[in-house]
Amino acid sequence: MTVLGSANLDITATVPRLPGPGETLLGTSLTHSPGGKGANQALAASRAGATVRFIGAVGQDAAAAQALELLEADGVDLEHLLRVETEPTGTALIAVDEAGENNIIVIPGANAALDADAVRAQADQIRGLLVLQGEVPASGLAAAVAVAPGRVVLNLAPVIEVPREVFLAADPLVVNEHEGALALTQLGGQPQGLGEAEVVAALRAKGVPSVVMTLGAQGALVSGAPEQDLPATDLQATDLPDDAGSVRVPRVKVAAVDATGAGDAFVGALAARLAAGEGLVAAATYAARFAADTVTRPGAQASYPAAGAPLG
Ligand code: ADP
Repeated sequence: MTVLGSANLDITATVPRLPGPGETLLGTSLTHSPGGKGANQALAASRAGATVRFIGAVGQDAAAAQALELLEADGVDLEHLLRVETEPTGTALIAVDEAGENNIIVIPGANAALDADAVRAQADQIRGLLVLQGEVPASGLAAAVAVAPGRVVLNLAPVIEVPREVFLAADPLVVNEHEGALALTQLGGQPQGLGEAEVVAALRAKGVPSVVMTLGAQGALVSGAPEQDLPATDLQATDLPDDAGSVRVPRVKVAAVDATGAGDAFVGALAARLAAGEGLVAAATYAARFAADTVTRPGAQASYPAAGAPLG
Protein backbone atom coordinates (compact mmCIF):
# COMPACT_ATOMS: atom_id res chain seq x y z
CA MET A 1 0.00 0.00 0.00
CA THR A 2 1.00 3.65 -0.40
CA VAL A 3 0.71 6.55 2.04
CA LEU A 4 0.96 9.98 0.41
CA GLY A 5 1.25 12.82 2.89
CA SER A 6 3.19 14.99 5.28
CA ALA A 7 6.37 14.35 7.20
CA ASN A 8 7.42 16.77 9.92
CA LEU A 9 9.99 17.13 12.62
CA ASP A 10 8.20 17.90 15.91
CA ILE A 11 10.29 20.12 18.19
CA THR A 12 8.71 20.14 21.64
CA ALA A 13 9.67 22.45 24.51
CA THR A 14 8.25 21.90 27.96
CA VAL A 15 7.58 25.17 29.78
CA PRO A 16 6.25 26.01 33.26
CA ARG A 17 3.45 27.97 31.52
CA LEU A 18 2.76 29.09 27.96
CA PRO A 19 4.46 32.44 27.14
CA GLY A 20 2.31 35.50 26.47
CA PRO A 21 2.84 37.94 23.56
CA GLY A 22 6.33 39.46 23.60
CA GLU A 23 7.41 37.29 26.54
CA THR A 24 10.61 35.25 26.81
CA LEU A 25 10.73 32.46 29.37
CA LEU A 26 12.96 29.53 30.21
CA GLY A 27 11.80 26.08 29.23
CA THR A 28 12.69 22.88 31.07
CA SER A 29 13.33 20.37 28.25
CA LEU A 30 13.54 20.03 24.47
CA THR A 31 12.81 16.95 22.34
CA HIS A 32 12.94 16.29 18.61
CA SER A 33 10.59 13.59 17.33
CA PRO A 34 9.32 12.46 13.94
CA GLY A 35 5.78 13.51 13.10
CA GLY A 36 3.42 14.63 10.35
CA LYS A 37 0.19 12.75 9.70
CA GLY A 38 1.43 11.03 6.56
CA ALA A 39 4.58 9.73 8.22
CA ASN A 40 2.71 8.72 11.38
CA GLN A 41 0.14 6.75 9.39
CA ALA A 42 2.83 5.11 7.25
CA LEU A 43 4.63 3.90 10.39
CA ALA A 44 1.40 2.69 12.00
CA ALA A 45 0.45 0.76 8.86
CA SER A 46 3.89 -0.83 8.72
CA ARG A 47 3.72 -1.79 12.41
CA ALA A 48 0.26 -3.24 11.76
CA GLY A 49 1.80 -5.59 9.21
CA ALA A 50 1.50 -3.82 5.84
CA THR A 51 4.22 -3.36 3.24
CA VAL A 52 4.24 0.42 2.92
CA ARG A 53 5.56 2.93 0.42
CA PHE A 54 5.62 6.52 1.68
CA ILE A 55 5.44 9.38 -0.83
CA GLY A 56 6.14 12.69 0.89
CA ALA A 57 8.37 15.73 0.54
CA VAL A 58 11.19 16.80 2.85
CA GLY A 59 13.91 19.44 2.63
CA GLN A 60 17.59 18.89 2.00
CA ASP A 61 18.46 19.56 5.61
CA ALA A 62 19.42 17.78 8.79
CA ALA A 63 15.79 17.75 9.98
CA ALA A 64 14.84 15.39 7.13
CA ALA A 65 16.84 12.48 8.54
CA GLN A 66 15.29 12.99 11.98
CA ALA A 67 11.78 13.22 10.53
CA LEU A 68 12.24 9.94 8.65
CA GLU A 69 14.26 8.03 11.25
CA LEU A 70 11.59 5.59 12.43
CA LEU A 71 10.14 5.01 8.95
CA GLU A 72 13.59 4.14 7.70
CA ALA A 73 14.26 1.83 10.64
CA ASP A 74 10.95 0.06 10.00
CA GLY A 75 11.76 -0.64 6.36
CA VAL A 76 9.09 1.69 4.90
CA ASP A 77 9.90 2.31 1.21
CA LEU A 78 11.14 5.91 0.96
CA GLU A 79 12.57 5.64 -2.55
CA HIS A 80 9.99 7.95 -4.11
CA LEU A 81 10.16 10.68 -1.51
CA LEU A 82 10.73 14.19 -2.91
CA ARG A 83 13.76 16.04 -1.58
CA VAL A 84 13.04 19.72 -2.09
CA GLU A 85 15.95 22.15 -2.42
CA THR A 86 14.17 25.39 -1.72
CA GLU A 87 12.14 24.59 1.41
CA PRO A 88 12.96 23.23 4.87
CA THR A 89 11.55 19.93 6.14
CA GLY A 90 8.10 20.55 7.61
CA THR A 91 8.39 21.48 11.26
CA ALA A 92 6.00 21.66 14.19
CA LEU A 93 7.12 23.93 17.03
CA ILE A 94 5.27 22.75 20.15
CA ALA A 95 5.22 24.26 23.63
CA VAL A 96 3.64 22.12 26.38
CA ASP A 97 3.03 23.45 29.88
CA GLU A 98 2.75 21.54 33.17
CA ALA A 99 -1.01 21.16 32.80
CA GLY A 100 -0.55 19.53 29.38
CA GLU A 101 -1.91 22.63 27.59
CA ASN A 102 -0.07 23.37 24.35
CA ASN A 103 0.66 25.91 21.62
CA ILE A 104 1.65 24.58 18.21
CA ILE A 105 3.07 26.35 15.16
CA VAL A 106 3.27 24.22 12.00
CA ILE A 107 5.53 25.27 9.15
CA PRO A 108 4.54 23.09 6.16
CA GLY A 109 7.84 23.80 4.34
CA ALA A 110 8.58 21.01 1.87
CA ASN A 111 5.14 19.39 2.42
CA ALA A 112 3.63 22.19 0.33
CA ALA A 113 5.52 20.79 -2.68
CA LEU A 114 3.09 17.85 -2.90
CA ASP A 115 0.83 19.68 -5.34
CA ALA A 116 -0.98 18.32 -8.40
CA ASP A 117 2.11 18.41 -10.65
CA ALA A 118 4.29 16.61 -8.11
CA VAL A 119 1.64 13.95 -7.51
CA ARG A 120 1.06 13.36 -11.23
CA ALA A 121 4.82 12.95 -11.69
CA GLN A 122 4.68 10.16 -9.04
CA ALA A 123 1.48 8.57 -10.36
CA ASP A 124 3.12 5.32 -11.49
CA GLN A 125 4.68 4.89 -8.07
CA ILE A 126 1.35 4.72 -6.23
CA ARG A 127 0.79 1.00 -5.51
CA GLY A 128 -2.24 -0.70 -3.99
CA LEU A 129 -4.49 0.97 -1.44
CA LEU A 130 -3.74 4.72 -1.12
CA VAL A 131 -3.94 6.62 2.18
CA LEU A 132 -4.29 10.44 2.15
CA GLN A 133 -4.67 13.18 4.78
CA GLY A 134 -5.32 16.94 4.83
CA GLU A 135 -1.77 18.15 5.49
CA VAL A 136 -0.82 18.45 1.80
CA PRO A 137 -2.24 20.86 -0.82
CA ALA A 138 -5.81 20.16 -1.95
CA SER A 139 -4.63 20.06 -5.56
CA GLY A 140 -2.31 17.18 -4.59
CA LEU A 141 -5.20 15.27 -3.00
CA ALA A 142 -7.39 15.78 -6.09
CA ALA A 143 -4.58 14.59 -8.39
CA ALA A 144 -3.94 11.58 -6.13
CA VAL A 145 -7.54 10.33 -6.17
CA ALA A 146 -7.61 10.82 -9.96
CA VAL A 147 -4.60 8.53 -10.49
CA ALA A 148 -5.16 6.08 -7.59
CA PRO A 149 -4.98 2.53 -8.93
CA GLY A 150 -7.26 1.12 -6.20
CA ARG A 151 -9.07 1.90 -2.98
CA VAL A 152 -8.55 5.30 -1.32
CA VAL A 153 -8.62 5.86 2.45
CA LEU A 154 -9.00 9.60 3.15
CA ASN A 155 -8.35 10.99 6.62
CA LEU A 156 -9.43 14.58 6.03
CA ALA A 157 -7.50 15.97 8.99
CA PRO A 158 -7.20 18.86 9.12
CA VAL A 159 -10.33 19.56 7.05
CA ILE A 160 -9.24 21.52 4.00
CA GLU A 161 -11.40 22.59 1.08
CA VAL A 162 -11.24 19.78 -1.52
CA PRO A 163 -13.17 19.13 -4.73
CA ARG A 164 -16.27 16.94 -4.35
CA GLU A 165 -14.58 14.11 -6.30
CA VAL A 166 -12.15 13.67 -3.41
CA PHE A 167 -15.05 12.92 -1.04
CA LEU A 168 -16.67 10.63 -3.59
CA ALA A 169 -13.45 8.57 -3.78
CA ALA A 170 -13.08 8.19 0.01
CA ASP A 171 -13.70 4.54 0.95
CA PRO A 172 -13.64 5.19 3.83
CA LEU A 173 -13.54 8.86 4.82
CA VAL A 174 -12.01 8.81 8.32
CA VAL A 175 -12.83 11.80 10.54
CA ASN A 176 -13.33 12.65 14.19
CA GLU A 177 -16.60 14.28 15.34
CA HIS A 178 -15.41 17.82 14.70
CA GLU A 179 -13.94 17.03 11.28
CA GLY A 180 -17.07 15.08 10.32
CA ALA A 181 -19.24 18.15 10.91
CA LEU A 182 -16.88 20.37 8.86
CA ALA A 183 -16.78 17.82 6.04
CA LEU A 184 -20.57 17.66 5.97
CA THR A 185 -20.77 21.48 5.78
CA GLN A 186 -18.33 21.42 2.87
CA LEU A 187 -20.60 18.97 1.07
CA GLY A 188 -23.55 21.35 1.49
CA GLY A 189 -25.09 19.59 4.51
CA GLN A 190 -26.09 21.03 7.88
CA PRO A 191 -24.53 19.30 10.88
CA GLN A 192 -26.17 21.62 13.47
CA GLY A 193 -28.17 19.61 15.97
CA LEU A 194 -27.17 16.24 14.49
CA GLY A 195 -25.76 13.44 16.62
CA GLU A 196 -22.58 11.59 15.59
CA ALA A 197 -24.38 8.74 13.84
CA GLU A 198 -26.60 11.22 12.02
CA VAL A 199 -23.57 13.13 10.73
CA VAL A 200 -22.13 9.82 9.50
CA ALA A 201 -25.43 8.98 7.76
CA ALA A 202 -25.61 12.46 6.22
CA LEU A 203 -22.08 12.11 4.83
CA ARG A 204 -23.08 8.79 3.24
CA ALA A 205 -26.23 10.39 1.83
CA LYS A 206 -24.01 13.03 0.17
CA GLY A 207 -22.27 10.22 -1.71
CA VAL A 208 -19.28 9.32 0.47
CA PRO A 209 -18.84 5.56 -0.16
CA SER A 210 -18.06 4.71 3.46
CA VAL A 211 -17.32 6.61 6.68
CA VAL A 212 -15.41 5.85 9.88
CA MET A 213 -15.82 8.40 12.68
CA THR A 214 -13.33 8.12 15.54
CA LEU A 215 -14.73 8.99 18.96
CA GLY A 216 -11.70 9.12 21.27
CA ALA A 217 -12.15 6.81 24.27
CA GLN A 218 -15.59 5.82 22.91
CA GLY A 219 -14.09 3.95 19.94
CA ALA A 220 -15.52 4.58 16.48
CA LEU A 221 -18.60 4.50 14.26
CA VAL A 222 -18.48 2.70 10.91
CA SER A 223 -20.88 3.03 8.00
CA GLY A 224 -20.39 1.35 4.66
CA ALA A 225 -22.00 -0.99 2.19
CA PRO A 226 -23.32 -4.14 3.93
CA GLU A 227 -20.83 -6.39 2.14
CA GLN A 228 -18.02 -4.49 3.85
CA ASP A 229 -19.33 -5.37 7.29
CA LEU A 230 -18.64 -8.41 9.40
CA PRO A 231 -20.74 -11.50 8.80
CA ALA A 232 -23.80 -11.19 11.06
CA THR A 233 -22.67 -14.16 13.15
CA ASP A 234 -19.59 -12.21 14.29
CA LEU A 235 -21.55 -9.23 15.53
CA GLN A 236 -22.62 -8.59 19.10
CA ALA A 237 -26.18 -7.33 19.52
CA THR A 238 -24.83 -3.86 20.34
CA ASP A 239 -22.87 -3.83 17.08
CA LEU A 240 -25.96 -4.05 14.89
CA PRO A 241 -26.53 -1.00 12.73
CA ASP A 242 -28.50 1.73 14.48
CA ASP A 243 -31.26 3.71 12.80
CA ALA A 244 -28.71 5.85 11.01
CA GLY A 245 -27.08 2.71 9.54
CA SER A 246 -23.76 2.77 11.38
CA VAL A 247 -22.02 0.16 13.48
CA ARG A 248 -20.20 1.08 16.69
CA VAL A 249 -16.94 -0.80 17.11
CA PRO A 250 -16.26 -1.82 20.70
CA ARG A 251 -14.57 0.79 22.89
CA VAL A 252 -11.27 -0.39 24.32
CA LYS A 253 -10.61 0.48 27.96
CA VAL A 254 -7.01 1.47 28.69
CA ALA A 255 -5.15 3.66 31.18
CA ALA A 256 -4.66 6.69 28.92
CA VAL A 257 -1.32 8.50 29.18
CA ASP A 258 -1.05 10.51 25.92
CA ALA A 259 -3.42 10.49 22.94
CA THR A 260 -0.96 12.28 20.61
CA GLY A 261 -0.91 10.48 17.28
CA ALA A 262 -3.76 8.11 18.25
CA GLY A 263 -5.89 9.22 15.32
CA ASP A 264 -3.01 8.52 12.95
CA ALA A 265 -2.38 5.13 14.56
CA PHE A 266 -6.04 4.30 13.98
CA VAL A 267 -5.90 5.29 10.28
CA GLY A 268 -2.64 3.44 9.61
CA ALA A 269 -3.85 0.24 11.29
CA LEU A 270 -7.25 0.47 9.56
CA ALA A 271 -5.58 0.86 6.16
CA ALA A 272 -3.22 -2.05 6.81
CA ARG A 273 -6.13 -4.39 7.58
CA LEU A 274 -8.17 -3.17 4.59
CA ALA A 275 -5.14 -3.70 2.36
CA ALA A 276 -4.95 -7.26 3.73
CA GLY A 277 -8.54 -7.82 2.57
CA GLU A 278 -10.45 -7.45 5.85
CA GLY A 279 -13.95 -5.92 5.96
CA LEU A 280 -14.46 -2.38 7.18
CA VAL A 281 -15.93 -3.24 10.59
CA ALA A 282 -13.28 -5.88 11.34
CA ALA A 283 -10.51 -3.49 10.24
CA ALA A 284 -11.92 -0.66 12.38
CA THR A 285 -12.24 -2.99 15.38
CA TYR A 286 -8.55 -3.87 15.07
CA ALA A 287 -7.65 -0.18 14.52
CA ALA A 288 -9.46 0.77 17.76
CA ARG A 289 -7.39 -1.81 19.68
CA PHE A 290 -4.17 -0.68 17.99
CA ALA A 291 -4.89 3.04 18.65
CA ALA A 292 -5.92 2.39 22.27
CA ASP A 293 -2.60 0.60 22.83
CA THR A 294 -0.68 3.69 21.62
CA VAL A 295 -2.56 5.89 24.11
CA THR A 296 -0.89 3.98 26.98
CA ARG A 297 2.55 5.35 26.02
CA PRO A 298 3.79 8.95 25.49
CA GLY A 299 4.58 10.44 22.08
CA ALA A 300 3.22 9.87 18.58
CA GLN A 301 5.37 7.51 16.48
CA ALA A 302 7.32 6.49 19.58
CA SER A 303 4.09 5.12 21.10
CA TYR A 304 3.25 2.77 18.21
CA PRO A 305 3.52 -0.94 19.11
CA ALA A 306 6.26 -3.01 17.50
CA ALA A 307 5.13 -5.23 14.63
CA GLY A 308 3.47 -8.36 16.02
CA ALA A 309 3.49 -7.10 19.63
CA PRO A 310 0.39 -8.10 21.65
CA LEU A 311 -1.99 -5.16 22.01
CA GLY A 312 -2.84 -4.17 25.61
P1 ADP B 1 -8.22 12.47 17.03
O1 ADP B 1 -7.02 12.67 17.89
O2 ADP B 1 -7.92 12.46 15.57
O3 ADP B 1 -9.41 13.33 17.41
P2 ADP B 1 -9.50 10.36 18.52
O4 ADP B 1 -9.26 11.12 19.78
O5 ADP B 1 -10.89 10.11 18.06
O6 ADP B 1 -8.67 10.98 17.30
O7 ADP B 1 -8.74 8.98 18.69
C1 ADP B 1 -8.55 8.10 17.62
C2 ADP B 1 -8.78 6.68 18.09
O8 ADP B 1 -7.82 6.37 19.11
C3 ADP B 1 -10.13 6.44 18.71
O9 ADP B 1 -11.09 6.10 17.74
C4 ADP B 1 -9.83 5.27 19.63
O10 ADP B 1 -9.85 4.08 18.90
C5 ADP B 1 -8.42 5.55 20.09
N1 ADP B 1 -8.39 6.27 21.38
C6 ADP B 1 -8.15 7.60 21.58
N2 ADP B 1 -8.21 7.91 22.89
C7 ADP B 1 -8.50 6.77 23.55
C8 ADP B 1 -8.68 6.40 24.93
N3 ADP B 1 -8.57 7.31 25.92
N4 ADP B 1 -8.96 5.11 25.22
C9 ADP B 1 -9.05 4.18 24.24
N5 ADP B 1 -8.89 4.46 22.93
C10 ADP B 1 -8.60 5.72 22.59
